[in-house]
Amino acid sequence: MFTGQRLLACVALVAHGFAVAAPVQVDSVRIATDSARTRIALDLSQPAEHKLFTLSNPHRVVIDIKPGRIVKSALPLPAGDGGVRKIRSANREDGTVRIVLDLEHPMKPRSFLLAADGQQPDRLVVDLAPIGSLPAVRRAPVLKAAPPRGRDIVIAVDAGHGGKDPGARGPTGIREKDVVLRISRRLAEIIETDPHMRAYLTRSTDRFVNLRERMERSRSAQADLFVSIHADAFRDTRVRGATVYVLSSKGASDEAARRLADRENAALIGGVALDDKDSTLAGVLLDLSQNAALSASFDVGDEILQQIGRMTKVRKQRVQEAPFLVLKSPDVPSVLIETAFISNPSDERNLSSSTYRERLAQAIFDGIRDYFESNPPPGTVMAATQRPMPGRSADLEHVIRRGETLSAIANRYDVSVRRIRSVNNLRGDKIVVGKVLRIPPTQDI
Ligand SMILES: [Zn+2]
Repeated sequence: MFTGQRLLACVALVAHGFAVAAPVQVDSVRIATDSARTRIALDLSQPAEHKLFTLSNPHRVVIDIKPGRIVKSALPLPAGDGGVRKIRSANREDGTVRIVLDLEHPMKPRSFLLAADGQQPDRLVVDLAPIGSLPAVRRAPVLKAAPPRGRDIVIAVDAGHGGKDPGARGPTGIREKDVVLRISRRLAEIIETDPHMRAYLTRSTDRFVNLRERMERSRSAQADLFVSIHADAFRDTRVRGATVYVLSSKGASDEAARRLADRENAALIGGVALDDKDSTLAGVLLDLSQNAALSASFDVGDEILQQIGRMTKVRKQRVQEAPFLVLKSPDVPSVLIETAFISNPSDERNLSSSTYRERLAQAIFDGIRDYFESNPPPGTVMAATQRPMPGRSADLEHVIRRGETLSAIANRYDVSVRRIRSVNNLRGDKIVVGKVLRIPPTQDI
């Protein structure tokens, strides 16, 4: 179904030429283990794209960086630690450096990039979390003392455009692809400072990545949220301010949003004459399973908008809807932030200021954090450390929002769909936007 698109993406890569990219040097490899995970950090000469996959029999995690090579000073590699029995490396003939982690037992890897910050070089970090029970906890004599278990919340940060696709351009020539990459990298770093969150960048360099790849990669990184960072442009240079979008379930809600979506979608495929009808159709079909994610998208979008509104001008006070292809992940809540109008001189000035970008990244993070603090995904450390919601003895009222489903609402309030149906005299699953639902008290277990 998507073969055509893959093919074009490959052609685009070849046309870009590998010769331009200097190999990434792996300068050192470190490993450390704590109660929650084993962490492997690679110090790199420059930011790198990488591939991460697992193999079984025996269990291994493989990290490929291309073009890349490990240098002599990085050897010998450190001995294994935690669930890692051994670390091996090889500079392969095709210009790839391959790092292999031999595991004692199957583990779940997650990787993210940290940008050089003056003290430390660019780093590729791979965290390995045990699947199932933790050996460390099993060994611990006092179970009560064990730290809360669970996985980190993963935020996919998607810097719009890149490579041959520059995006919009400001009056003084500032390019969208550059400023959104800076904001995205900063946002990822802030996310990484949170002990319970991890960032995944869909691109960490000035590189073209097509839309579907951005979504697919975020899904394989098991992202709990996909945040796409952009900057807007308009022929009327007076227009300014930030806007937060979620995917519209039924097409663009207004004409401006439709035009913008057309442009972002077109820009994102980089002017390549791409017949995307198939994937658009697939997207529409996926919408059917998308409602729960959409409801969460509205909620997280609201939180982000509130935080951005405290530090800068926002164009629309409410989360907007538009049919952005990049937001069409079936199961990952997704928002797209037009951080400012790069076509407006004062917005352009803001975007080129590192102080401003810092505040913006912080505001976006605060919104994300606010959302996940009240809606921690099951299985995460954040969910485990939160006090369980005290059982409610009284009814609540819930105003149905666009995109919500009965099951998502039931899930949120920890009651069954059946009970909501019976309290509200509902027959099926059909609910109406704006209608007030009574939410019955939680039942004692
Ligand atoms: Zn854009």
